[in-house]
Amino acid sequence: MEENKYICPKCGEAMKAVYEKPALNLVCPKCGCNIATTKWDDIDLDDTDYGIILKSSQSVTIEQIKCISIMSGQNFITSKKLLENGGLLFKLKAIDIKSKCIQLDKNHISYSISPDFPY
Ligand SMILES: [Zn+2]
Repeated sequence: MEENKYICPKCGEAMKAVYEKPALNLVCPKCGCNIATTKWDDIDLDDTDYGIILKSSQSVTIEQIKCISIMSGQNFITSKKLLENGGLLFKLKAIDIKSKCIQLDKNHISYSISPDFPY
C-alpha cells in the first residue's frame, strides 16, 4: 500500500487516514484538523477522465436505446446508431463512471472503459 496522499487543507501536513466504517476520518497530526466523510475513497479523488466505449451490437433492444438516450441526452436515432456501431458514449470522472456502468449492466449493454478502470 502506498502512503496516503491526503493533505491537510490548513497546514499542508500529510493527514492520517483513520477508517471507522463506513466513515473515513482524516486527522492532521500537526494542527489537529479533522475531516470526516462517509464516502471519501480513492475513487472520489481520481481525476482521470474515463471513456465509456460501447461495443457494436447487432441486436439492439428498445430498452437499450432508451437507456442510452436518457444517459447521454441524445435522441433515439443517434442512440440507436451508437449502440449498433459502437463508439464513445461519454467521458467522465471515475466516481460518475461507476453509476453509469450499473445502468449499462442492468440493460445488458456491452462496453469497455478506457483507460483501464481499476474499481
Ligand atoms: Zn494541519
